[in-house]
Amino acid sequence: MRNLPFTKEKLEEIAARWPTPFHIYDAKAIRENAKRLKKSFSWNKGFREFFAVKATPNPHLMKLLQEFDFGSDCSSMAELVLAERVGNVGEKIMFTSNDTPAEEFRKAWELGAIINFDDLTHWEYFLDAVAVDGNRPQAADLASRLFCCRYNPGPLKGGNAIIGKPEEAKYGFTREQLFEGYRRMKEAGVTRFGLHTMVASNELDPEYIIDTAKMLVDLVGDISQQVGITFEFVNIGGGIGIPYRPDQKAMDLERVGKGIEAAYKASVTGRGLKPLKLFMECGRCITGPYGYLVARVRHIKNTYRMYAGLDACMSNLMRPALYGAYHEIVVPGKESCGDTTTYDVTGSLCENNDKFAIQRVLPVLERGDLVVICDAGAHGHAMGFQYNGKLRSAELLLESDGSVREIRRAETLDDYFATLDFPG
Ligand SMILES: *Cc1c(COP(=O)(O)O)cnc(C)c1O
Repeated sequence: MRNLPFTKEKLEEIAARWPTPFHIYDAKAIRENAKRLKKSFSWNKGFREFFAVKATPNPHLMKLLQEFDFGSDCSSMAELVLAERVGNVGEKIMFTSNDTPAEEFRKAWELGAIINFDDLTHWEYFLDAVAVDGNRPQAADLASRLFCCRYNPGPLKGGNAIIGKPEEAKYGFTREQLFEGYRRMKEAGVTRFGLHTMVASNELDPEYIIDTAKMLVDLVGDISQQVGITFEFVNIGGGIGIPYRPDQKAMDLERVGKGIEAAYKASVTGRGLKPLKLFMECGRCITGPYGYLVARVRHIKNTYRMYAGLDACMSNLMRPALYGAYHEIVVPGKESCGDTTTYDVTGSLCENNDKFAIQRVLPVLERGDLVVICDAGAHGHAMGFQYNGKLRSAELLLESDGSVREIRRAETLDDYFATLDFPG
């Protein structure tokens, strides 16, 4: 049984002010986790985590993570603007996008972001996108800026269980293309380089992450030699998993830190390379376990199965419907009642996959019970949508002192109609 950072009484107090459903994030736990992550990589001078904004694009949480000097990993205009608004500009932004529109390259360039290219053809496209009156940036303009390419190892690296085989993924350069990409950038006057990859999603095996770092560091050695450039950083991407299921174990960050340190020493020091900064752009493992979707049982229905219908639906958390993902469900106040009854826990959307859990054994549920769906702190609220006229819920922050602050209000019908111009 999961330990929650609030009691049933406290939740009822919160729900009296902010009606369910809502997301609530545990600031204290997020801070402790951020500290742990930084400590695991403190051996690396210049280590930085760029929080993947898409996981939980809330400026209040981004601000909180700034306390730990986290940057922002952005992949769209809105995410770039969010980073700008919280004061993450310049090289505190990692712009890792794909199928990138010209205006986003322009915005990233204006903000001074580290620009990570997804394809060989994007270099020329970028130069045209940021050209002023038809004039592309000159060598002098490019020399001070940090550029990066995204590597897709294809069949050279085994697949991650969730993201699948790299060669079937749409992202990144092939190995050969990387050499060409850096050559072109060098010719244009770029002097500062990084190398990026992202081959995992929700990976729980530390060795996979360590291997990824090793692969990048070795590749930096090869490219440096053949192209005649030096690298400032490697970015191992995001993808560190979290234990959604009770039988899973959290990633041992210290083990990852130590494993990468050993690989680093062997390759960087071993090959006489210049010191490399280690970057990562995790989202899920930063906020995922520390966010909860809180809902109330609205109806109990007994037909061919027992159904517990909540006042939340997949517009608040669509991972179960989208991926069949497992999310632990806790019924505060009924922890000691014993799990005796099997339910499908549903939302009210007219889609039969609008279920938070299928055939889950839970304590006997009654109308009005509060239900807490765990691990909703990343790729939760963020994936919300308005299909079927459902509205996105509020986001709350449980502060370290126990107080609660609204960090995003719930949507209203006015929000739903805001984009329509229709008389009547
Ligand atoms: C989604 C994504 C991330 C974050 O992934 P998590 O699984 O949340 O750690 C980081 N980088 C890129 C390029 C992504 O697409």
